[in-house]
Amino acid sequence: MSAPRRLLARLRETMAQSAAPLAALSQLIAAELESEVCSIYTLRPGDILELVATVGLKPTAIGRTRLRVGEGVVGLVAATGTALNLPDAQNHPAFAYRPETGEEPYASMLAVPVRRAGRTRGVLAVQSLQPRLYARDEADELETVAMLLAELLPVATDAAPPEEGFGATLPRRFAATPLAPGLAIGGILRRGVLAQPERLLAEDVAAERVRLEAAWQAMQQGVDALLADRVPDTGASRDVLEAYRLVAADAGWFERVAAAVTGGLTAEAAVHRVAGELRRRMRHLGDPYLRERLADLDDLAGRLLGALGAAPAPGPLAPGTILLARRLGPAELIDWQARGIVGLVVEEGTPHGHAAILARALGLPALGGASGLLETASDGEELVLDADEGRVILRPELDVAQGYRAALAARSAEQVSLRAWRGRKAMTADGTRLRLMLNIGLPHEIEQLDITGAEGVGLFRTEIAMMAAGATMPDAAEQAAIYARVLNGAKGRELIFRTLDLGSDKLLPGAPPTSEANPAMGWRSLRIGLDRPAVMRRQLNALLLAADGRPLSVMFPMVATVEEFQAARALLDAEVARFGRKPVRLSVGTMLEVPALLWQLPGLLASTDFISVGTNDLMQFLFAADRTAPDIADRYDVLSAPILDLLEDLAEKAEAAGVSLSVCGDAAGEPVVALTLAALGIGTLSMSAHALLPLKAWLARIDLPAFRPVLASIRRSASGGASLRETINAWTREQGVPGGSI
Ligand code: PEP
Ligand code: MG
Repeated sequence: MSAPRRLLARLRETMAQSAAPLAALSQLIAAELESEVCSIYTLRPGDILELVATVGLKPTAIGRTRLRVGEGVVGLVAATGTALNLPDAQNHPAFAYRPETGEEPYASMLAVPVRRAGRTRGVLAVQSLQPRLYARDEADELETVAMLLAELLPVATDAAPPEEGFGATLPRRFAATPLAPGLAIGGILRRGVLAQPERLLAEDVAAERVRLEAAWQAMQQGVDALLADRVPDTGASRDVLEAYRLVAADAGWFERVAAAVTGGLTAEAAVHRVAGELRRRMRHLGDPYLRERLADLDDLAGRLLGALGAAPAPGPLAPGTILLARRLGPAELIDWQARGIVGLVVEEGTPHGHAAILARALGLPALGGASGLLETASDGEELVLDADEGRVILRPELDVAQGYRAALAARSAEQVSLRAWRGRKAMTADGTRLRLMLNIGLPHEIEQLDITGAEGVGLFRTEIAMMAAGATMPDAAEQAAIYARVLNGAKGRELIFRTLDLGSDKLLPGAPPTSEANPAMGWRSLRIGLDRPAVMRRQLNALLLAADGRPLSVMFPMVATVEEFQAARALLDAEVARFGRKPVRLSVGTMLEVPALLWQLPGLLASTDFISVGTNDLMQFLFAADRTAPDIADRYDVLSAPILDLLEDLAEKAEAAGVSLSVCGDAAGEPVVALTLAALGIGTLSMSAHALLPLKAWLARIDLPAFRPVLASIRRSASGGASLRETINAWTREQGVPGGSI
């Protein structure tokens, strides 16, 4: 019998027989982990952790020693939900000395949170005289015991379970951050809340292993069947499911679940334990994309529990379903959209994160934030999602729901009326022409060219297509097939392929997590391309294959120095030289996203054919403001004097050098930003499909020559870096053309 299993068996026995199970439990754990101390703290009302059982500390401290959540090592473990393994606990910055416990002699400490249903209920800690780091097995063992303990500790939080009784029927409103515009009304589906296991300890380990393996196979087959169902679908949804299958088939986490079953847990409890552990560890890494990937993990854990019979298998969605999730990775978002959701609330989503970009591209109304909603809402309840106003209404009043339904109906009528704009040129009321282009990343989105009447694709994010295509990088022929599909769909209109912009918050499914502290500024994008020229050349070769002699435009992302651009261009030139059917026209451009490039303009303008400004990244680096951090999402604005000054200067220099300039960050699709850019002389703007027709209609009502002096005066009176948006909006309102942002 394995050590953890033996311990669990003894714990079960002890708890059944003992009048003081917590004390008995501490005794056993201390002996098992060869520690002098084992203590149990439980959460009391007011976020207080109280010592309720101990062996090794003074018994008189029981009921007396109290720590606030966040105070001391124990409080820190409760606050972060993360275990701490400290050989020298007393010198940890968080250590809080409590003389009544008599803990001075003990050097090391291993403390794990006791959690149930996503909430901390207490902390379990062992301490020993010898300064030592507890072994991985020991830490695992203590975490398993903490699961068991979670069942025993009284529920003692003062945060009464939200929304019980009468309150649960009342409407509730939540403020939220718009991620993708639009309205939706429908029934809620919460994702990411796994059903708690009913049994924790397995009666028969061998039988439990067999159950787990059968469920694993069933889950694989389920994913395969889903994939087969999707084969008639076009492109993305099938590709996404394929990616899911590959992640699902990754044996790594299954082996950990199997090991936990061998340790004595039921298969359900083991899935919970491993998912929870990975979740905590990945959250700890702090990488925003990894946090998004947690969603995929929850999804897979849910599927496995479904196969174990512990959770209903994902069936068809009720029409009009709105998905609520803590976080959602790009691949999963595509999957849910394919399943028919009409809206989305992602608690950890931010306007410039890739989930938001994808939601916009797919025309799926989405909100971020809305904190507290996930805990308050129940599946099936009605929800109004107003992504234009940044508002969520849970259980709306009848009249309110009615009003939103009417607005939705009017919207679709409006969309129909906007279709009239498809065939018209984009121009302001005075006849100034603009070139409106699309940002896309999935091959099937090329249809949007015809739907919106865009003049071309200003940004094809190839990494999105790769992420949707699967866990490993497709070979040149597979990539070429994807690019050819896009080129064919473009029917000769301009199409700019951006080379892979991987890293940071965009990782291929299954890619190893980064250990970088700042992945957005780390080994990403072109840096990877230049350091791994084989991968880059494969992509360039695929682009040439796809073009098959047709004109080709390629753009490099995250260029920080002219030399990097030149090195990338040299790789492309080498591929072209080796290639038989050369493109009749080859255009090679730079994304301007890294501020340092602004001080290398003479060299850059001499080497590049075009420049596209990526305001999403440029803003994050100029203002040192993480584009994925919700708290600072609206803090800095493109429409501020320093940014307008630099864009104007750039526009003048690019024009003088004969280098075409465009803006392809998300801001370019916002009417007041588009107008301001046009006034600065930047007339080529690339944006998500949903923004294009409304923008075309809006611009047609604007007199650009009248706006120029207004803008000049607004800029003159600006003395710092504050947003000028409201002042510009006020002018458009005066002109009778409100709705400056979408
Ligand atoms: C940008 O940074 O503005 C951009 C368009 O690229 P991405 O959003 O894909 O990083
Ligand atoms: Mg970028």
